[in-house]
Amino acid sequence: MLGKFWNRYTASTTTRAVRVLGTAKPSASIVNFRRSLCRISATNNEEASAKAAAANADSGAPTIFDKIIAKEIPSTIVYEDEKVLAFRDVNPQAPVHVLVIPKLRDGLTQLGKAEVRHEQILGQLLYAARLVAEKEGILDGFRVVINSGPDACQSVYHLHLHVLGGRQMKWPPG
Ligand code: 5GP
Repeated sequence: MLGKFWNRYTASTTTRAVRVLGTAKPSASIVNFRRSLCRISATNNEEASAKAAAANADSGAPTIFDKIIAKEIPSTIVYEDEKVLAFRDVNPQAPVHVLVIPKLRDGLTQLGKAEVRHEQILGQLLYAARLVAEKEGILDGFRVVINSGPDACQSVYHLHLHVLGGRQMKWPPG
């Protein structure tokens, strides 16, 4: 409800801002204002799609990552072994942004569903993240992120580690 209101508010505010600006070259502050509106709007979209994805999280339905594992859709593979696949994120958030996933999901839709039987694969995924960081030349500084559940904006329900690097990371994360 609040989300819908906010979407309408940001859309109408953007429209007003564009109308006021006309075709004149916008000032730096207007450009920054527009950028921040876009960011707010994108954040809303991410949260909405994360909530929608969570609704099917435990249905057992295949995800887009199953197609990537089966090589039915293309991906840029960075590392692969018997248990683990690592490929570049289609929407990179840093110069290096690689996803590390278990080839067999085995109930690991999200980290929050991990059980004792998953200990070994969880360790293998983390070690694979380190191998990816080495291959990508970012061992001096990289970040590993796992979004688990809708409040963390998880959008694909097949456990995955994001390996991010190649730029200065900020803290705290958003
Ligand atoms: P999450 O939001 O669940 O933590 O991360 C899912 C990630 O998967 C996102 O960063 C998104 O860009 C990435 N992704 C979604 N679909 C595809 C795809 O078809 N190919 C690749 N390479 N990445 C994808």
